[in-house]
Amino acid sequence: EAPVLRKPSWIRVRIPSGNAVAKLKEKLRANRLVTVCEEASCPNIHECFGHGTATFMILGEVCTRRCSFCDVAHGRPKPPDAAEPANLARTVADMGLKYVVVTSVDRDDLRDGGAGHFVECIAAIRAQSPGTRIEILTPDFRGKGRMERALEILAANPPDVFNHNLETVPELYRNVRPGADYQWSLTLLQKFKAQHPDVVTKSGIMLGLGEERDQVEQTLRDLRAHDVDMITIGQYLQPSAHHHPVMRYWTPEEYKHFETFGLGLGFTHVASGPLVRSSYHADRSAAEAGLA
Ligand code: SF4
Ligand code: SF4
Repeated sequence: EAPVLRKPSWIRVRIPSGNAVAKLKEKLRANRLVTVCEEASCPNIHECFGHGTATFMILGEVCTRRCSFCDVAHGRPKPPDAAEPANLARTVADMGLKYVVVTSVDRDDLRDGGAGHFVECIAAIRAQSPGTRIEILTPDFRGKGRMERALEILAANPPDVFNHNLETVPELYRNVRPGADYQWSLTLLQKFKAQHPDVVTKSGIMLGLGEERDQVEQTLRDLRAHDVDMITIGQYLQPSAHHHPVMRYWTPEEYKHFETFGLGLGFTHVASGPLVRSSYHADRSAAEAGLA
């Protein structure tokens, strides 16, 4: 049993509210869309929506996996909603979004892991909003033949940024990401990059799950060895008492160290800080990396 740690002063999570966000939420409900921004009560929601950035969760809200840090419900998901790509594209156009992150739960129940649905969403958004940059944050497409199928499907309509999160160091996978495989995830990132040298690849990890500093550094090296361009590193916060405990709050100075370390390895962009999320400043990071 880990002791319950007090949140340090640099972790301030305020629950956002306000009129502009409320209006957007109505629009999202009318189109039956879910954003991670709202679901995770993300403290950056005003900033992101204000900048024309949002993260949408497609393929439902029920996951076939059960990661110990994650607050998403698990069980048997419904079939993909055929109207979702069109609803998503209309909402992106309505909201005037300039940068969209599209993510999903893990769909081990689907032959293609949901890749076909991702591609339909990309195509629908591009048709209505050709200037909008699209980042997809995908599951690992683990399973016999699934990665190959997914990569083939994605090749028809690749995103501007391909993001797949490692989430943590390999030593903690069994406990934190059961059902996933560290090398599989690295291979997915590398294969995508080999297929699309011009598309930016990106990954992310959370700190505070029990990892050691040298393990984090090795994970960053592994990502670079698999041609990943950008990385996000942020503090894990426990969604409830039933989730993985926070083992440690890394200090802002330590985040800074990983940023310097990562840049030294050759990442084009490193976002490392206590409140950094996979999609935080995704638009700016992409711009700095030469996109958007
Ligand atoms: Fe949404 Fe990501 Fe911005 Fe949070 S950081 S509001 S999840 S886009
Ligand atoms: Fe959550 Fe993703 Fe793990 Fe599913 S696969 S439980 S959505 S982190």
